[in-house]
Amino acid sequence: MGGHPEGTARVTLALRVHDRPVHIDVRLPDRTARLDELLPALREMDDRVIDATIAHVEAGGERVSCAKGCSACCRAQPVPVTPPEAYALARLVERLPEPSGARVRAAFTANVTRLREAGLYEAYMQRDPAMTRDEARIIARRYMALRLTCPFLADDACSIYAERPFTCRQYLVTSPPKLCEAPLDNAVKPVPMPATFATAMLEAGEALTGRAQHTVPLTLALDYAEASRMDIEKSGSAKLAFEQIVRRALK
Ligand code: SF4
Repeated sequence: MGGHPEGTARVTLALRVHDRPVHIDVRLPDRTARLDELLPALREMDDRVIDATIAHVEAGGERVSCAKGCSACCRAQPVPVTPPEAYALARLVERLPEPSGARVRAAFTANVTRLREAGLYEAYMQRDPAMTRDEARIIARRYMALRLTCPFLADDACSIYAERPFTCRQYLVTSPPKLCEAPLDNAVKPVPMPATFATAMLEAGEALTGRAQHTVPLTLALDYAEASRMDIEKSGSAKLAFEQIVRRALK
């Protein structure tokens, strides 16, 4: 890493993903930072890893079915986001110009109301660490039955494409798009991803706060960012956190 007059440090990495060379060239804050401030660099890195993974899958004769205009996964699934991503989304919503900001905030409020009415709000906001996989599946099924559309979906496209969460970036399938409408009941075939940036981000959050971290559905991002602001706003060395996240994500 080298210093930079604008307060950022350049990081270059040479990786091999599915035996393909992947060159990473990103910038990090050259100081202490919150974890959400690492997201631009991590998203860039994730995108390069995903590109190499798609090339690998398609070289093997399969086709990724996801394309602009297919929004099945944005119309029902919980879309788990990490606390720093929830915080970044909350800040993004604050910056939206009107009337988009009012539309997006109203969509969040409507979805949160539906989750409260369904008795699912607390289950996701205060995730029980002892929850079993079967119990998580049951609440996921109840969530999907609500058919909540992501507040950022506009005209069947993602309105925050460059800043969408890791889950949205990494969720690619080679099965027919229609199957994604009920992923727990259909034989959806996701593309296995070689990097786990969301998990790595949770572990970095645990190291920074000393508290167990969990994801929340995207539609609870604004509520969760507000409720966990004290933890999410903790900062540490950007360089150390980035190294920890990258090492864990590529493990
Ligand atoms: S953030 Fe974008 S890609 Fe992700 S669920 Fe929402 S609309 Fe879909």
